[in-house]
Amino acid sequence: MDMIVLNTEKRLCTCCMEEHEVKTVQMKVQMTFKNRKVDYEAIYTYCDVADELYMDERQMEENHIRIKFAYDREDSCLTSTDIC
Ligand SMILES: [Zn+2]
Repeated sequence: MDMIVLNTEKRLCTCCMEEHEVKTVQMKVQMTFKNRKVDYEAIYTYCDVADELYMDERQMEENHIRIKFAYDREDSCLTSTDIC
């Protein structure tokens, strides 16, 4: 699993409820959205302590926008005659 670390910040981790360096990561994931598989770059928070990926509310919203954007992009590729 390829993940890119976007940011590292020492703060209270809502996953393990300890204060430590929490990473903001980005990775390519596949989601089923409106019955179609969509690849997109998702943003997660990573907890080293629990080895757990999770999303906060803001990231959830951001990821939702990204899914829709990826979906619309693929949609326009399928309906147009251009090679994407
Ligand atoms: Zn943690």
